[in-house]
Amino acid sequence: MGKDSIIQKLKRILGDELVENEPLAEHSTLKIGGAAQYFYRAKSISNLILAIETCLKFSIPYIVLGSGSNVIIGDGGFSGLCIKNEARNLSFIKDKSQVITDSGVALSRLILEAASHDMGGLDFLYGIPGTVGGSVVSNAGTFGGAIGDFVISATLLFPNGKAERVTKKWLMFEYRDSKLRHLNPRPVVLSVKFQLATNRKEEILRKVQHFQRIRESKQPIENSAGSFFKNPEVSKQWAKKYLDMFGEKNPDLVEAIEKTGHIPAGWLLEQSGAKKMKIKAARVSKKHANFIVNHRGKAKAAEIRKLAGQLKQKVYDKFGIMLQEEVEYVGDWS
Ligand SMILES: Cc1cc2nc3c(=O)[nH]c(=O)nc-3n(C[C@H](O)[C@H](O)[C@H](O)COP(=O)(O)OP(=O)(O)OC[C@H]3O[C@@H](n4cnc5c(N)ncnc54)[C@H](O)[C@@H]3O)c2cc1C
Repeated sequence: MGKDSIIQKLKRILGDELVENEPLAEHSTLKIGGAAQYFYRAKSISNLILAIETCLKFSIPYIVLGSGSNVIIGDGGFSGLCIKNEARNLSFIKDKSQVITDSGVALSRLILEAASHDMGGLDFLYGIPGTVGGSVVSNAGTFGGAIGDFVISATLLFPNGKAERVTKKWLMFEYRDSKLRHLNPRPVVLSVKFQLATNRKEEILRKVQHFQRIRESKQPIENSAGSFFKNPEVSKQWAKKYLDMFGEKNPDLVEAIEKTGHIPAGWLLEQSGAKKMKIKAARVSKKHANFIVNHRGKAKAAEIRKLAGQLKQKVYDKFGIMLQEEVEYVGDWS
């Protein structure tokens, strides 16, 4: 099938929303990434399904992006169709404190709309710049909680073109992980049903502001993909040995490690001298050692990835721990 016939077929089915050579940097919070060969904004779940079915039918590679806040998109862009998920319907079941959301709904919007129905629970996630779909894939979380704790079920579109509802148990949520992250090709999250809790709007908004203030005080404002590495699991003995070795007495850190069994990657990176490290405009944030930032928007994906490799090596040399990426490398890397 020649190039022209692919674009003609896509345009005939998906209409004028289908564009060519779309710069993906504009669709990632890190503001990095080459162009997508084809790009389509799916404004509803039926459009999302139609786009994927079309790709399956004509064997066109595809990727679904939410807010692009957990991805490093290669400088080569993406050869195939990049589908931006903008399906944004929400439906509240008030007497059960439940909500069914399209996967393209932004987390922060979900939290504020739920608050207006006096439903809370997800408040601690406010400020995470992702969509529901992307957040379920990585079991986004913070402050000791995660989105998976509130999921009842999700409707997925499987690579055989069939949509199926799966339970929370099926999704196998773990720390920044779910079964979806390990399936290749990955099913697409279409919608999610959440169990929330009844709470007063004013109380929820108070919590939201509190979490937002903490976030602003700790995280850089420069372009990033959030925490780059996962917090590795360590034993209590290991943590004690190394915290003593570095004269670390911060009670909040000690308590967090005891509670979660994970040591912040940011702490390991900071002790390894990460904050001084950079490759051209790919830099470790001075504010938070687990954030790699795209300084003045001039970094390349390859530089970010190379810097990440150097950081992993530094931490390994110092602590014998190999950090794992929380972000995902997607698209074309040469
Ligand atoms: C400033 C900042 C702060 C952050 N803070 C946190 C935090 O506190 N906690 C945290 O956990 N994360 C945090 N993140 C990371 C990120 O926001 C979350 O991981 C978020 O859940 C990603 O959602 P997204 O829609 O942006 O996913 P994307 O980055 O668009 O996609 C991530 C992956 O999921 C896939 N995907 C997206 N949508 C779907 C779908 N519908 N079905 C199947 N696959 C899909 C994509 O193909 C990609 O592989 C932060 C990021 C930034 C920039």
